[in-house]
Amino acid sequence: MENCLFCKILNRELKAEFIYENDEIACIKDIHPQAPTHLLIIPKKHIATILDLTHNDEKLIGKMVLKAGEIASEFNIGNKGFRLIFNCNKDAGQTVYHIHLHLVGGRKLKWPPG
Ligand code: AMP
Ligand code: ZN
Repeated sequence: MENCLFCKILNRELKAEFIYENDEIACIKDIHPQAPTHLLIIPKKHIATILDLTHNDEKLIGKMVLKAGEIASEFNIGNKGFRLIFNCNKDAGQTVYHIHLHLVGGRKLKWPPG
């Protein structure tokens, strides 16, 4: 999708630090980390928000969550704990309208979130 930050990163038009990539998803480091580990799992398919998902995307979302867990283990935060977050629309603070799963950990996280 034109003018989409994450499409540009996935197309290598913009730089990012890639942690993982396959034909359907990628994982990059968040440029403004909110914790010692802050990664983004992003589908290559442009989907603006969680509300734009269809049942055809069920497997894709499942793969994103599974991969997030694997990467958490690789980063040695699996047992200590981590959080997976999809922000959806304004009140949740979504700023990039191409869905992405935040993987946040490496410190004690507060609950409820701010
Ligand atoms: P959200 O607010 O849920 O839409 O999350 C967007 C995330 O993308 C934020 O945590 C930003 O720090 C992150 N971000 C913005 N620009 C970049 C970039 N060029 N490379 C990596 N992460 C970015
Ligand atoms: Zn996009």
